[in-house]
Amino acid sequence: YPAHRIRNFAIIAHIDHGKSTLSDRLLELTNTIQRHKPGDNNQVLDKLKVERERGITVKAQTVSMFYKHDGEEYLLNLIDTPGHVDFSWEVARSLGACEGALLLVDASQGVQAQSISVFHAAKDKKLKIIPVLNKIDLPAAEPERIATQIQAMFDLDPNDILNVSAKTGLGVRDVLHAIIDRVPPPNAGTNHDAPLKMLLFDSLYDRYRGVISLVSIKDGELRKGDKIASCHSRKKYEVMDLGIMHPEEVPTACLRPGQVGWIGACAATKKSGKETLIGDTFHRVGQPVEPLPGFQLAKPMVYAGVYPVDSNDFPKLEESIKRLTLTDRSVSVQRESSTALGQGCRLGFLGTLHMDVFRQRLEDEYDASVIITAPTVPYKLVYHDRTEFVSNPTDFPDINDPRVRLNEVQEPMVTASIIVPSDYLGEMMELCTSHRAQDIDYRYLDSEYQSSRIMLTCRLPLGEIMTDFFDKLKSRSSGFASFDYEDAGYQKSDLVKMTFLLNGRQVDALAFIVHRSAAENIGREWALKLRKVIPRQQFEVPIQAVVGKKVIARETISAVRKDVTAGMYGGHHERKMKKLAEQKEGKKRLKRIGSVDVPQEAFFEILSSN
Ligand code: GDP
Ligand code: MG
Repeated sequence: YPAHRIRNFAIIAHIDHGKSTLSDRLLELTNTIQRHKPGDNNQVLDKLKVERERGITVKAQTVSMFYKHDGEEYLLNLIDTPGHVDFSWEVARSLGACEGALLLVDASQGVQAQSISVFHAAKDKKLKIIPVLNKIDLPAAEPERIATQIQAMFDLDPNDILNVSAKTGLGVRDVLHAIIDRVPPPNAGTNHDAPLKMLLFDSLYDRYRGVISLVSIKDGELRKGDKIASCHSRKKYEVMDLGIMHPEEVPTACLRPGQVGWIGACAATKKSGKETLIGDTFHRVGQPVEPLPGFQLAKPMVYAGVYPVDSNDFPKLEESIKRLTLTDRSVSVQRESSTALGQGCRLGFLGTLHMDVFRQRLEDEYDASVIITAPTVPYKLVYHDRTEFVSNPTDFPDINDPRVRLNEVQEPMVTASIIVPSDYLGEMMELCTSHRAQDIDYRYLDSEYQSSRIMLTCRLPLGEIMTDFFDKLKSRSSGFASFDYEDAGYQKSDLVKMTFLLNGRQVDALAFIVHRSAAENIGREWALKLRKVIPRQQFEVPIQAVVGKKVIARETISAVRKDVTAGMYGGHHERKMKKLAEQKEGKKRLKRIGSVDVPQEAFFEILSSN
């Protein structure tokens, strides 16, 4: 395929606006997949179980289609991207392999928070943007009103907007034609003889075939057996296999400039997944090229400890985590251990949904059951002579101790934007204020219409939106609010470390960094939770929430003498022995914190109830 008959494009949208459904229709129209009954929810590109269950796209997918238009056959490469704010890193790097993007907006909901952020991501990459209004079959669709919104917010010509229903297929053919007519062909690759320049934009892990990399060829040609090298790590590989996704991997003889495809490569030295970095540029060995711009490592925003429910399963868990990070390079991994939970890993995620999805994938795809500690954002500690980042509460110093010589503690901030019908403005302001928001501001999105939407912006501490902020946002706006945020640097804050003592002994798995103003409430809440999940012992057990040296909350578990054979008459010797054996079995799973026995499940319960 000569470059002028290739189009690389992405579909970008707020979650639920219909990307996966539109992808299905495009694949059907091009006979890439079999046609389904109208309204059938096929969602070929949502391959993961977690994606099908939650109806969200987590992992960007790539697929090649062939389409005849005006007597010429075109190769159209579609990159389906996730919509949730946590996965914006995934979106940004997929866009690096495209020249155009369909900006899909739900014609009943209108422009939402992620519509704006994905629009800017595409604009930054200088992609040709084709606005598409979806779901025009809905009775609640207001195509004219939303068209005005799109024009005002994105400065796009309303005459360029396509109206479609991905569900019924209405107008979808026009989308294909618009892609061919409006998206420019890949321009880098007119010269087949130029030295190979290739972008690695994603990787997948296949149980049988190992790591498969998704690449976009910018210059030159790639064939089986080619020796290639990374600009970043300088590591060398041999291409064992290559082809296009159609929609599964189909081998081809070569990949040409402008094409997007997959390669199975074998490292010239020992095989290891960690070394190929997403966003890296590859060249032919001996023919170095200038690396492509925009290489950016993922920046984890949330850290948590991940432990096996049964400590004996650690080696298996670690292996599973390793495998899974091969398909999700945005997760950072470090070993850690805890007296309460044993050996585990400290993982860094892009957000809490990302963390949740990772946990579910560990369970679905690797059959692991895990305990995840409360998430922590990275804090910045400014000492008199140095700066340090802490992403584990265990490493957080006692700031009241003068020997520590800490000048200040800073926390990561975000600029948040919330789009919501104006009736909910008061509720949203209150929600933000209760999460320590600063500089709250708002403006109307479409003033000509009666029931108008507003966009509220403010600065929020990242740590404040890590737990139930999103749930509250949804429930207090009857599900109407959408939310997005971006990094806004660090800011000084009055943070303290809170720990819990069980009978005077610290439980290391339960430590939090909290704002001083919230410490008392959180201390009380968790002390109570602990009292409920820890079984009675043969002596009284005090539970204390401590900040510095001060106890800020206290609960007591009263004593009980647990005689499991009580109520059994003599002679039932066998039953009695069985009961005792059962109790012994149960003991194995107990963790000793000082003199207190805590079943592992108690940690599971308390940490997953959060
Ligand atoms: P994504 O999150 O952007 O991938 O959105 P999906 O493709 O998963 O669609 C979200 C929901 O909207 C699903 O329940 C779809 O069936 C529905 N949907 C998508 N397109 C249309 C459409 O054109 N009309 C109607 N009525 N529903 C649609
Ligand atoms: Mg989807």
